[in-house]
Amino acid sequence: MMRFADENPGLAPDTPEARRYNRIHRWLEFSDFALGLAFLLVLLLSGWNVVFRDWAYRAALQNYTLAVFFYVFLLMFGGKLLGVGLDYYGFRLERRYQLSIQKTRSWLWDETKGFLVGLVFAGIVAEVLYFTIRQSPQHWWLISWGVFMVLFVVLAQVAPLILFPIFYKFEPLENEDLKQRLVKLSEGAGTKVRGIYKWHLSEKSRKANAALTGLGATRRIILADTLLDHYSPEEIEAVLAHELGHHVHKHILKSIFVQAVVTLLGFWAANYVLHLSIEQWGMFDTLSDFSNLPLLVLVSTILSIALMPAMNAYSRFNERQADRYAFKAIRSVQPFISSMNKLAAQNLAERTPARWVEWLFHSHPAISRRVAAAEAWKLRLAGDSRI
Ligand SMILES: [Zn+2]
Repeated sequence: MMRFADENPGLAPDTPEARRYNRIHRWLEFSDFALGLAFLLVLLLSGWNVVFRDWAYRAALQNYTLAVFFYVFLLMFGGKLLGVGLDYYGFRLERRYQLSIQKTRSWLWDETKGFLVGLVFAGIVAEVLYFTIRQSPQHWWLISWGVFMVLFVVLAQVAPLILFPIFYKFEPLENEDLKQRLVKLSEGAGTKVRGIYKWHLSEKSRKANAALTGLGATRRIILADTLLDHYSPEEIEAVLAHELGHHVHKHILKSIFVQAVVTLLGFWAANYVLHLSIEQWGMFDTLSDFSNLPLLVLVSTILSIALMPAMNAYSRFNERQADRYAFKAIRSVQPFISSMNKLAAQNLAERTPARWVEWLFHSHPAISRRVAAAEAWKLRLAGDSRI
């Protein structure tokens, strides 16, 4: 691989700055996770989960449904209070490395909105859970799973219309040249994407990004203005082709299917542990005692951490597939390579992270490997045309 090093910055060693930034970032995520885990464990071991439940009941005047919601609020508020220091540090980190220009006030507003949106989601999830537990103690985990999958599909559909605009502005892309390129690309693929949207990311970040979002009628490609403003039309086309690759290979639908299997496993495990906690450990009297919520969250957190390497491997597989689609769809892979290199520099990404780091934490293949794949593709094409 090193033979490309001279001609291709994608395979040059990472700068100390990028290494440092990513190391701190990883520690931050790890601390955040450890803090959350500690919070849940302390709640359960100290009996505060029960004290919170009694507070929630009293505040709700003994109304079960309302008490569940207050309980969710108490847990989330406590968690936020504990974690806000780390969140602020994360915000300062982006500023320190000049990856963000967001003002403190705007950040605070985003945090508030994020908390409220999270509260609405967690509230709905908890109400569905305890409602089904009360209606069907035997099969609650299967029924809840079914309800969640429906909610999940609905959410995937409405997220681009309702959820994303809470945090960012979007508008249909005006650039005719780019639109023409996408139409051509998607015609070549025999498919149709409903639209390209400009994502106003620059108010909050200097990083560039692009994504395929939505389902059905809301399916769309979003391109950050930080990308649109600094990349050549050919480079943006390469990014579009990659996103179109996700579309052609139906990655959103497949991910929902994978998510469904994982969630089913999670619900089964939650039910199993809840029964243990009642029958073996004597922690609770009934399934519907919602002071067991921290235990449910603990189970799902541990499970999602345990599955993270597998889920990331699956995501990297999809990303490689989308890359290969892009190589085929664009005339030359050179703009793809240069867009990758620009992206790495702009986002202060590690081009060549340690293997174990990529394996555990990265949803995308390392930039160096994506560039090397493009180079290999180019060489293979050159080889083919010589024959
Ligand atoms: Zn992708």
